[in-house]
Amino acid sequence: MENLVGRFIKYAKINTLSDENSKTCPSTKGQLELVNILAQELKDIGMSEIDLDKHGYLMATLPANIKDTVPTIGFIAHLDTSPDITAKNVEPRIIEQYFGKNIILNKKTNIVLSPKEFLDLNNYIGQSIITTDGNTLLGADDKAGIAEIITAVEYLIKHPEIKHGKIRVAFNPDEEIGRGTDKFDIKKFNVDFAYTVDGGPLGELEYENFNAARAKITIKGLNVHPGSAKNKMKNSMLVAMELNSMLPGHQSPAHTEGYEGFYHLTDISGSVDSTTVNYIIRDHDKSKFNRKKDLLIRIIDHLNLKYGPRTIKITMVDQYYNMREIIELRYDIVNLAIKAMNAAGVAPKIVPIRGGTDGAKLSYMGLPCPNIFAGGHNFHSKYEYVPIKSMEKAVEVIVKIAELNAAQSEK
Ligand SMILES: [Zn+2]
Repeated sequence: MENLVGRFIKYAKINTLSDENSKTCPSTKGQLELVNILAQELKDIGMSEIDLDKHGYLMATLPANIKDTVPTIGFIAHLDTSPDITAKNVEPRIIEQYFGKNIILNKKTNIVLSPKEFLDLNNYIGQSIITTDGNTLLGADDKAGIAEIITAVEYLIKHPEIKHGKIRVAFNPDEEIGRGTDKFDIKKFNVDFAYTVDGGPLGELEYENFNAARAKITIKGLNVHPGSAKNKMKNSMLVAMELNSMLPGHQSPAHTEGYEGFYHLTDISGSVDSTTVNYIIRDHDKSKFNRKKDLLIRIIDHLNLKYGPRTIKITMVDQYYNMREIIELRYDIVNLAIKAMNAAGVAPKIVPIRGGTDGAKLSYMGLPCPNIFAGGHNFHSKYEYVPIKSMEKAVEVIVKIAELNAAQSEK
């Protein structure tokens, strides 16, 4: 465990912000810098079959130390941090034995991490937590996950008395820009099942995420001089507003939580002549998801009848699906994680993800892959922080998963 915090801080200081506009994989050089360090580290601690490909996907093996045939488990974390917020000169700060008061992250810019605003902080009074200096994100999403996985396999190597099957680890680039699994070779990874260590606070365990689609809608208008426009002008922006008003207003991100889905207007730009509107559509329930997509199509059909054929065009593509359908067939994997958390003294908190994960895509590629906590809070923000004890517990959970998996199969 002594290397856990040092590892995390070392990784956090490397700028691995991913870039949507980049055509390369990985999208940024910083990710290659980090992954090269990780490859060396895996070698140093005694991992085998270390394989770093040209796209920045790193895989390695911890061989089994028992003869029985035990299913192979994979543990996965991502290298990049969110492009939403700068990761230049990340300076993690350790607050020893948090007192329960405001933490002044940055005096100059008056950035304060307050337990009044972030109530979860109160759960960590007396613990040491790692914060930012108020200028950047921290990158516990997902460098805490990386540090935890490496520390866990190192622990297993140093404690051969703990019996385990074959363990594989993988670190991939560009999760935050939705490309984390694009070049993930699951054949090469060759595991029976896996966990992404990319969840939030202590105990989080996730195997449900949104079904997701995005829709690009273009509206063609007709512009004439407003003084002589009667019965002639077609203002595409007004058509866009009409379209949006026909969607159920309460089904928007600001009015939904838990299992409630939504339409989210992500951007709109237009003139009288032409307007482009983008939506994302989300729902955990497949049939509700399909109904949401249908409704959008029917609204557009209706408006095309009203304003003339081909006034509105839509291209809608599915982005990812709820992994629950896949994981339900392999609920033993969820149970194993629950047992491991209980054994580590961590209360499992099963929550539906209001987003997607690499694990969802991997699950549909044939590799069932729930998500377990890495321990951090306030991801993608200057207020990001991670309690050290939560990171230690994540290491323990990974070790316990390996141990219990072997014990289960021996029976
Ligand atoms: Zn993440």
